[in-house]
Amino acid sequence: MENNFVPQDVLVMKFGGTSVGTVQSMKSTIQNIKRCKAERPNLVVVTSAISGATNALIKSATDAAAGNLTTAEKTTRELTARHHEMIDKLVNDPNQWLQLKMDINRMLTDFSNFCNAIKILGELSPRALDIVSSLGERMAIRVLAAGVSSAGVPAKAVEASELILTDDVFQSASPDMVRTAEKCKKHLYPLLEQGVVPIVTGFMGATEDGIITTLGRGGSDYSAAIIGVGLGATDVWIWTDVTGVMSADPRIIKDAHTIPYLTFSEISEMAFYGAKVLHPKSVKPCVDNDIRMRICNTFYPDKMGTILVKDSEARDIGKIKAVTSASGFKLVQVAGAGMDSGMAVSAKILSSLVDQGINVPMVIESSSEQAICFPVELKKIDKVKKTLTSVLEKEIQHEDIDLITVSDQVDILTVICSGLKSHPEVIAQTLNGMVEKKFDIKAMSFGPSDVSLNLIVNSADTNAALNTIHQLIHND
Ligand code: ASP
Ligand code: MG
Repeated sequence: MENNFVPQDVLVMKFGGTSVGTVQSMKSTIQNIKRCKAERPNLVVVTSAISGATNALIKSATDAAAGNLTTAEKTTRELTARHHEMIDKLVNDPNQWLQLKMDINRMLTDFSNFCNAIKILGELSPRALDIVSSLGERMAIRVLAAGVSSAGVPAKAVEASELILTDDVFQSASPDMVRTAEKCKKHLYPLLEQGVVPIVTGFMGATEDGIITTLGRGGSDYSAAIIGVGLGATDVWIWTDVTGVMSADPRIIKDAHTIPYLTFSEISEMAFYGAKVLHPKSVKPCVDNDIRMRICNTFYPDKMGTILVKDSEARDIGKIKAVTSASGFKLVQVAGAGMDSGMAVSAKILSSLVDQGINVPMVIESSSEQAICFPVELKKIDKVKKTLTSVLEKEIQHEDIDLITVSDQVDILTVICSGLKSHPEVIAQTLNGMVEKKFDIKAMSFGPSDVSLNLIVNSADTNAALNTIHQLIHND
């Protein structure tokens, strides 16, 4: 018989590694799930691995491929101990307690055997790596589901290999959204109908043939968005260990504060330029499907955190919301009087970089086209210099280009403010502040995005410049 149950007002909540990393944080998470379930019955949980697990698993496998099993042995011991302690402290039912301990032991024994096999082969294939790296999530769902059940809320561990259908690009798989939606509905609607909270693995999916894939590091946020879309959810909440998105890095800026509302464009710019708040791919599926996103703190659940809204619902237009920095660049400049032959040289430069797999986060060109400059990550500088001297050989010989210079270390500062184009005074204030303090602005870009202004400054000036800009924020 066809089931017509369609849950309303679905809420998907994703918990990061630190929200499930210790007995104490698991307890907070379980309480948060319990409280939210009481208010929002159609609740689905997605969890990351316990903190540090994914790194340890990956390192075990790569060390095994290099002939060393010590890391795998240590990881097996540590992950056994950490999961067992959680089971001891969180699971009441003796049968469930025993079953769960046996499950964890079996999974870690398989892992240990798998690392042995990797050592014998001397090779770690991308496919094997995804089997290993998704193990943390597969253990976490079992422990969390048992803990939630013990707290009196029916819950069931669900592996996302049942839900998220992906291509076979291991480590960075893409979902088939249509088929994934069908699977999400088929597997999760019945659980919701029975009042059970599905506790789903973040980070992983599977191919058509059921082979495990992963969505990229930090991909559990993306999993939550994918499942949210699949279920027609109204909300996706990301639970983490900070209270939402901050106006600046609080380690650098003492009075940084939580931004209550941010638009999707604003946060996308922030994620791109260094604020590691959300997996960048998680935002778009939510925007496109009108899903409200919230970023909140597992340890301060009553604080609202940050709510992401559509660009059309932007608040505080023309006010700076945040300033972020991305560090570790040098500025490469190519200049020469002969460069003014249209766009040809610039195009040649940029396409040669793309061919070499070098991403440049921004490009600034003088209007005469006699100079072009762009920041390049430190570790790619040598490659860029080599590429440019070879691809521009002719121009250099003909003295059309006389200069390829590389600056000292610089950082990219990004000022986030919706409506910059209609509020040029914000740009003026920012620049005045910088000039007053005599910071050397190496380059700047504004225009392509109405929500961000990028300034390139010497790394030595970064912290002071961030402070200067942060003082401009209207904190009202
Ligand atoms: N556990 C995975 C990672 O560490 C996924 C996640 O945390 O979102 O990358
Ligand atoms: Mg994460």
